[in-house]
Amino acid sequence: MFPYIPLKRFLTCGHCGKPLRGYIVKKKNLHYYKCCTKACNNNKSATTLNSLFEKVLDRFKIDRAKDVIDLIKQQTVAVFNQLTAGKQDDYQHLQRQHREIVTKINRLEERYVEEEIGGDLYHKYRQRYDDERIRNRGKTDEAIPAGVEPR
Ligand SMILES: [Zn+2]
Repeated sequence: MFPYIPLKRFLTCGHCGKPLRGYIVKKKNLHYYKCCTKACNNNKSATTLNSLFEKVLDRFKIDRAKDVIDLIKQQTVAVFNQLTAGKQDDYQHLQRQHREIVTKINRLEERYVEEEIGGDLYHKYRQRYDDERIRNRGKTDEAIPAGVEPR
């Protein structure tokens, strides 16, 4: 019985709003949806109502709305890029700063090892560069990496 009246309890009566039930007239092997409100007696052929429901569903089919989906996608990407443009630039800028700091630290270590500078200078600048690196790391964590987003 189920395949013939799959919409029972899902559909509601157009007159009184109560869920429709299904039943079969066994002699004729015909299926119906029926409202159970006594005064209502709304009665519909299952074949008719099922195919009507299929037509309604057809309007929501995704492939028909493909153009709309493509437009929504394009618009979403555009808005995302607009909203994050500054942050992507920030991220790249911070990445560059990070590389510069690392280079400075390496050079400082070399000069210290080569005895071009003494311990005082080494520790003073080492502290400064380390602080810079930590601040940079904090800002980088908040920025948005380029390449993650759709372009
Ligand atoms: Zn009814």
